Amino acid sequence: MAEAYDPNNVFAKILRGELPCKKVHETRHCLAFHDINPLAPIHVLVIPKGAYVSMEDFSAKASAEEQADFIQAIGETARIVGAVAGGYRILANSGANANQEVPHLHMHIFGGRYLGRMLKKEGE
Ligand code: 5GP
Repeated sequence: MAEAYDPNNVFAKILRGELPCKKVHETRHCLAFHDINPLAPIHVLVIPKGAYVSMEDFSAKASAEEQADFIQAIGETARIVGAVAGGYRILANSGANANQEVPHLHMHIFGGRYLGRMLKKEGE
């Protein structure tokens, strides 16, 4: 069963306007903003406005309209930040094995440099 949503997580506070963010794009159901601790020249986050912990939670409970909006917002955000020409990576961490730190679904968009292989093999 999915973890209960914590309304005090940092992204919930950004959505309520209690914390600032450097906004890149906004749609009816999503917000995109720069990551506070960027790991690449381009590092932005796209989040649904609804209270979803993870992709598991979102895919099970969000409406078709919210899900379509999320996919479109990810693509449009990548275009807005200029990630498309050089290539980019999207990544969503879910749960403990993925080291998810903020329990509100977010898609990372990384770009602006060569990003290497997607994961190190065990022992590498
Ligand atoms: P996760 O490990 O959960 O996939 O990634 C969480 C991301 O959220 C990290 O890259 C971290 O830098 C970012 N982050 C954490 N707190 C804030 C914040 O208050 N504002 C912004 N813009 N990003 C944050």
